[in-house]
Amino acid sequence: MHQNPKKLICTRRIEFDAAHRIIGHTGKCRYLHGHRYALEASFTCDVTRDMVVDFGLIKDVLTNWINNNWDHTTILSIGDMELGQHIEYYTKQKVFYMDKAPTAENMSSILITEIIPSLFTGSDVVCCRVRVYETPNCYAEATSCS
Ligand SMILES: [Zn+2]
Repeated sequence: MHQNPKKLICTRRIEFDAAHRIIGHTGKCRYLHGHRYALEASFTCDVTRDMVVDFGLIKDVLTNWINNNWDHTTILSIGDMELGQHIEYYTKQKVFYMDKAPTAENMSSILITEIIPSLFTGSDVVCCRVRVYETPNCYAEATSCS
């Protein structure tokens, strides 16, 4: 039986490098270490439109934010500010602080709830899913898709 799609979704992948550590982690993640992160942001609209959002627009807006805030930075929780101040002082590297632990789960969550909506205010672009990969095989996902 022929079925019409219920929803159109387009996804853009952006890669970046960053360091982080997870305070209180019982394994190796409690040590400062780096990842080649990849994030996939998915946008949706109803099926009547020809295009959800221009891939070039996502790239321009979101890549710009990633380059300015996460790429080649250290991402720490606000509770790890003493380490962050040392990093900023000795390396001049930018530190991005999160309210919660800088896990892929929490990074996905703030992207979909705060960062991406703030970048696309005034447009009808809706981000419905964000995946943050810490390795090619492991990602966390935040979604508002039903
Ligand atoms: Zn890690």
